[in-house]
Amino acid sequence: MNNIQMVDLKTQYEHIKQEINQAIQDVLDQAAFINGPQVKKFASELGAYTGASFVTTCGNGTDALQIAMMALGFKPGDEVIVPAFTYVATVEVIALLGLIPVFVDVTEDTFELDIDQLAYRITERTVGIVTVHLYGQCSNMEKILDFAGLHGLKVIEDTAQALGAVYTFSDGKTMKAGTMGHIGTTSFFPSKNLGCYGDGGAIFTNDPDLGEKIQMIANHGQKQKYYHDSVGVNSRLDTLQAAILSVKLNYLDTYAGARNEVATAYDAAFDSHPQINIPVRVKQSTHVFHQYTVRLQESVDRYAFKSYLNGKGIPSMVYYPLPLHLQKAYLMYGGKVGQFPVSEKLCERVISLPIHTEMTSSQQDYIIEQVYSFF
Ligand SMILES: *Cc1c(COP(=O)(O)O)cnc(C)c1O
Repeated sequence: MNNIQMVDLKTQYEHIKQEINQAIQDVLDQAAFINGPQVKKFASELGAYTGASFVTTCGNGTDALQIAMMALGFKPGDEVIVPAFTYVATVEVIALLGLIPVFVDVTEDTFELDIDQLAYRITERTVGIVTVHLYGQCSNMEKILDFAGLHGLKVIEDTAQALGAVYTFSDGKTMKAGTMGHIGTTSFFPSKNLGCYGDGGAIFTNDPDLGEKIQMIANHGQKQKYYHDSVGVNSRLDTLQAAILSVKLNYLDTYAGARNEVATAYDAAFDSHPQINIPVRVKQSTHVFHQYTVRLQESVDRYAFKSYLNGKGIPSMVYYPLPLHLQKAYLMYGGKVGQFPVSEKLCERVISLPIHTEMTSSQQDYIIEQVYSFF
C-alpha cells in the first residue's frame, strides 16, 4: 500500500485545483496582496458559517490567541487557566504577555479540560480560562461558561482543531465551536481542518466592543491610519490565503464528513480491541476529527508500535509527548512530575493514526490490518 500520509494535501488540492488556481489568479491579476477584497469577503463568509458576529482574520492561530488576550485586557501578573495537555501555543502567549499560566488536568477519555478541577485552581488573580477543543470535539462549554460566569472570568476557545464542530446546550440551543466564549480563535495552518497554503488565523466574537478592539490590535492598534490608540501587533491574513480559504470553506463540512467516515471505521475496528481505547465521543458535541487519537494500554510499547507501523508505510504521530507543565521553557511556573497525572499518562499512551479527507477504504483497511498484525 503506497503513499499513506497523516494528511494528504496534494490529492485534496488536485480535486479542487481549477477553483483554487482561478482564485489565486484573480489575486495576482488584481495585485492587492495585502488587505485585498478577498480578505473581507472570506471574513464575512466565515462569520456566516460559524454564526460569529465579528470575525477578524490574522496571521496565524498563535497570534489569534495573543490578540484575544490583549483585547480582553489581561495584565501582567493575571492568571489564566489552561489545560496541561495541549499544543504549546496557548501557554506561550500567556508567558509572552507576562501573564501566569495556571494549568489544569484533562479528562482521560475525552482529552478536555477537567471542569471539576477549575474550582481548585482559581484565585483572586484569575482572569480567564482558555479551553482547547482538542482533536476536533468541543469541551464541556456549558459547564465552563457557567463556572466563568459565576466567577467573572473571560473564556477563550482555542478552536484551531475544531472549526465546524457543533455544540448543543442542555436547552437544545446549538452553537459552533469558537462562538460560545467571549472570544474564539482558530488557525488555518495547512494541516488544520480548514487549512490554507501557508499561515493564517482568525478571531471570533459576538461582542461589538471586543470585535473593534481585536480589529485594532491586529492592525498596529490603529483605527485610523497612523493614529495608534493602543499597543498592537501586525498580524494579517494575506489576500492569496484568504482567496484560497474562501474556496475551501465551501468544502469544510464535506471534509468533516469524510473524516467522520474514517473515524467511524476505526471505531468499529478497534472498539473491542483489548489494548486500544478509542476516542470517546460526547453527546453534546459533534466531532470533526482533526486527529483520530487512541490510547494504548500500558502493556503496549508505544514506540515499538509506532516504528512497526512506520515499517509498513503507515505514519503516526504522538500529539503530545510532554505535558506543558513539564516543558523546560515553562518549569518556572512550578510544574512537578505527578502534578497532573492524567495529562502525564496521556502523553505516554496516546497515538494518532492517519485521518484525512482523501483516505481510501483500501488504505484504511490496510492500516487496520497492520495495527492488528502488530498485536
Ligand atoms: C495549530 C494550533 C495552534 C496554533 O496555530 P498556528 O497557526 O500554528 O499558530 C494553537 N492551538 C492549537 C490547539 C493548535 O492545534
